Amino acid sequence: MSSKHIIVIGGGVVGACATYYLSRNIGIRVTVIEKTGVACNASGKAGGFLAYNWSDDTAIGDLSRKSFKLHGELATELDGENKYGYRKVDTYSVLYQGGKSKPKTKQDMDVMAWIDASGIRHMEKLGNMTDTAQVHPRLFTETLFETAKQTGNVTLRTGFGVSHVIIDDDQIHGVQLDNGEIINGDSVVVCMGAWSGQLPTLHLPIDGQRAHSIVFKPQNPVPAQMLFTTILDGTRTHHPEVYPRPDGTVYMCGATDNTKLPSSADQIQVDSQAIRELERLRDTLAPELYGGDKLIAQQACYLPVSEDGTPFVGPHPKYKQLIIAAGHSCWGILQAPATGLMISELIVNDRISCVDREAVEALDPTNRC
Ligand SMILES: Cc1cc2nc3c(=O)[nH]c(=O)nc-3n(C[C@H](O)[C@H](O)[C@H](O)COP(=O)(O)OP(=O)(O)OC[C@H]3O[C@@H](n4cnc5c(N)ncnc54)[C@H](O)[C@@H]3O)c2cc1C
Repeated sequence: MSSKHIIVIGGGVVGACATYYLSRNIGIRVTVIEKTGVACNASGKAGGFLAYNWSDDTAIGDLSRKSFKLHGELATELDGENKYGYRKVDTYSVLYQGGKSKPKTKQDMDVMAWIDASGIRHMEKLGNMTDTAQVHPRLFTETLFETAKQTGNVTLRTGFGVSHVIIDDDQIHGVQLDNGEIINGDSVVVCMGAWSGQLPTLHLPIDGQRAHSIVFKPQNPVPAQMLFTTILDGTRTHHPEVYPRPDGTVYMCGATDNTKLPSSADQIQVDSQAIRELERLRDTLAPELYGGDKLIAQQACYLPVSEDGTPFVGPHPKYKQLIIAAGHSCWGILQAPATGLMISELIVNDRISCVDREAVEALDPTNRC
């Protein structure tokens, strides 16, 4: 039987899911090229929050729904609970204003005992154990690559990036690496996250936005309650997201800024002021939470953002063997499994059937690059 060689560019969560689903097919060989390290950018530094139906008011609602279900199936197949902290969670939005306001109700204080009840102005339940969940994104990404490699059909190469895709006579022949090496392939899948727009001549309308996050160990255990906050702070409003993890740590991330995308993930700068701001917001919202130990992580990474706000999943309009899977913005951890399955279906069956037509059309790169 003839085999197809697929080159996946990028070792983030989207590259991991594409590789995982491709590796389950007979006659498919995959080479993954990762410039810096597996999950070195957003896929290693995201919150890992998953929601079933939060994209329902968009054309890609089915992508999120399908992906949420796939996360559940993967967690069963791969022992996600132990390997990458998969669990179902409760999710809340909290409007907080310190100072003058009175505690809301005794009930609110009991539900959310780990934050400063005196500042809660409004609280709403956004999700429960049936429709919201979480994973540790780096461990999830690593587990998928490891499982795919065990098939014997996957080679993962790190250290050199792809400098360009080799195109001759409108046909894709493979890629050239930064060290000049050429790797031939039948199809190339672009999963380079925020850097996807940097491939020469392709001009994909995708860029990056920097965001900071911290991880710390609280003094006392925190329940599986994910928080989307609005903190009113004088004339300013902040929206940090707070995700307690099953390993006893808490992850917290803040707003994006406009710092230009560096040439590679190892050049990302962490702004200490942004880290201090997150710590200040943590101590405002939950003064008793943090014991004062060293932060486990103070980090920054780049969200992959497409010009029109919708991810790209599908063949390049001009080159059928060049498949784009990038631009998932703040939902890439959730949407990666369905994206990976779409890529695998496209390469193996030449058509996508795992999500509905509306989503396939909205994600299609045709007329968008
Ligand atoms: C602060 C923050 C919190 C988030 N929280 C959540 C969340 O709770 N839930 C959720 O669903 N999503 C979340 N996201 C979004 C999610 O992290 C991203 O959408 C997702 O990680 C994107 O994955 P990716 O594989 O497309 O990109 P990346 O993770 O950026 O991976 C791309 C890879 O390509 C590599 N690369 C770049 N150039 C080259 C080259 N020339 N050759 C080879 N390799 C190259 C990079 O080194 C990188 O490893 C969050 C994002 C941020 C920033």
